[in-house]
Amino acid sequence: MTVDAQSKLPRLGTTIFTEMTALAQQHGAINISQGFPDILPPQGLVDAAIRALQNGVHQYAPMAGRMDLRDWICRHHAQRHGAQYDPVRECTIGAGASSLLFAAIQAFVRTGDQVVIQTPAYDLYSPAVTLAGGQITEVPLLTADGTWHLDALLDAIHPDTKLVILNTPHNPTGTVCPPGFLDALAEHLEGNKTLILSDEVYGPIVHDGTDEVSLAQHPALRDRGITFGSFGKLLQVTGWKIGWAAGPPSLTAELRKVHQYDVFSTGAPLQAALANFLPTKEGKDHLDGLPKMYQRKRDRLLAGLKGTSWKWTPAAGGFFQVLDARNLIDGNDGHWAREWTRTHGVATIPMSAFYTPHTPQLRVCFAKENATLDAAIERLRHIASDHAH
Ligand code: PMP
Ligand code: GLN
Repeated sequence: MTVDAQSKLPRLGTTIFTEMTALAQQHGAINISQGFPDILPPQGLVDAAIRALQNGVHQYAPMAGRMDLRDWICRHHAQRHGAQYDPVRECTIGAGASSLLFAAIQAFVRTGDQVVIQTPAYDLYSPAVTLAGGQITEVPLLTADGTWHLDALLDAIHPDTKLVILNTPHNPTGTVCPPGFLDALAEHLEGNKTLILSDEVYGPIVHDGTDEVSLAQHPALRDRGITFGSFGKLLQVTGWKIGWAAGPPSLTAELRKVHQYDVFSTGAPLQAALANFLPTKEGKDHLDGLPKMYQRKRDRLLAGLKGTSWKWTPAAGGFFQVLDARNLIDGNDGHWAREWTRTHGVATIPMSAFYTPHTPQLRVCFAKENATLDAAIERLRHIASDHAH
């Protein structure tokens, strides 16, 4: 007898990131689709991981994460955002930011609760809300001129809205929450119980002098929500899957109730490596240099595409750039992203995977070695010349 699993997520397939990376491998294409660096992590971090393994760090880390690493995270928020978090009661380490975002959504959302998401959105939020029984209200992230759409967000939030999910720097658009946006949101939320999850995994990676904006630094919002970070993005170790959540004790306690049963604790030797490496001079220099490194990568990509039919607004944060393909193709960017992986040897993410855009667009990841970027540029230029009208 075969048993029908009676899918709780009947419309979902495999994520676009998994699909495009597999397609890139199948066709030997340059992979600028899924968001991961091909740049090596700092050597000192790798050495620290080897030392942790050699020193016998093989058993469970504490459920909420190693204390010295939680200390570092809280110091990081204090230095960058002037926010005080207590490492004992307000900071939790999990299997990437993903596991903690997922745990938070399961912890807070009940059947029928309204959750507001700005679209295009990172693909994890919506299925997590659906599994918790929540109702999603999608609002456009951007106005027609490409700025964050405050009115759309505020209009969607009612006194009984359970949760708002924010993401800055934003994946996939590369935009950054503008200063003042959180003030307006705080004012609008006054007197209601809406919670906020702020996905800040690309946190410090901002370009062209753009201000880094964090929920943590906002006095009225800090206690209404949880801020999420990821060592994967900060240290070129996405495969380590170590992230954190910082928020007030009442929310952290509920988050941990889920975390202790879905993940419990994660990557003890890798946590040890991070805790030992981050406070070193090499660790500090790495983090200080991170935004500049990615800005240079973005600039290299865009300089390489100059004079072609690709159009763009330079990413203000993160390590993704959206390329507008309206001068190349009509409609279906999903079709063309797959086709160009096969025919032109470059894999990208179609923006239609994140929402219904009005123009065909691709998301490309520029967290790549210069040689990878240069090869991708060459292939993207071929696409542009082959599709010139
Ligand atoms: N949020 C966003 C916006 C992301 O791009 C990612 C990247 N995977 C995550 C969360 C998950 O981070 P992690 O790899 O630490 O789970
Ligand atoms: N965050 C990565 C991206 O946006 C993907 C992570 C994943 O594959 N789940 O490409």
